[in-house]
Amino acid sequence: MKRLELISEGKSKRIYATDDPRLVIESYKDETTAFNGLKRGNISGKGVINNRISNHLMTMLEKNGIPTHFVEELGERETLVRRVTPIPLRVVVRNITAGSMAKRLGLPEGQKLRRAVVEIDFKDEMLEHPMVNEDYIYAMGWASEEQVKLIKQYSRRINELLCTVMRQAEIEVIDCKLEFGVTVDGTLVLADEISPDTCRLWDASTHEKLGIDRFRRNLGDVEQAYQEVWSRLMGERA
Ligand code: UDP
Repeated sequence: MKRLELISEGKSKRIYATDDPRLVIESYKDETTAFNGLKRGNISGKGVINNRISNHLMTMLEKNGIPTHFVEELGERETLVRRVTPIPLRVVVRNITAGSMAKRLGLPEGQKLRRAVVEIDFKDEMLEHPMVNEDYIYAMGWASEEQVKLIKQYSRRINELLCTVMRQAEIEVIDCKLEFGVTVDGTLVLADEISPDTCRLWDASTHEKLGIDRFRRNLGDVEQAYQEVWSRLMGERA
């Protein structure tokens, strides 16, 4: 597969065209941002680990009937994925209170929810991803009723599957952020990435933070925390 011109560059990945109009190449960077771009930095080796983790999880999801954009890992940082038209929504599935939910509702972090919450935000960093409801989605034409139904169904299932594999690795999924897109042939698929950048992960017994929160909150050992998630998923304990 030939890598052609750069199509877009986001916070953590570059996207390149290929000679097949249905496929693009994602290239993971070590750069990172937090607080809607206010804090920036580099986490050495993060791109390599996130590429592996996301591909590992997407493969697991595909095996369990969730359509994803994943096609093939091409290299340390590069993965071939299906080209999609992104749906401009950010779906956050929450199992335990943290981050913006804790802040919005005045709750302490770490409170187990009676059931998982599927939150839908409009994906717009400048606006700090405002939470929206289905009326907004249809009024703005961001997705159809059928797509929203599937997005909600897939998101709950993805969260369950993610919690199961992470629990085996003694990791608790506090919340995770998902993005969807529509492929050239019209299929709704899970896109973007699932990694310690996009999920809040805590050690199941000590509740030590294992992902991007270590960077956000200056907790140190950021590189090691990413590596730790990958090692545990591979069944190795440090
Ligand atoms: N998240 C993300 N990208 C962002 C902001 C948040 O992937 O730019 C993820 C974050 O890691 C967490 C989930 O979305 O797993 C929910 O985040 P929340 O709304 O609580 O906001 P935060 O407090 O993380 O800014």
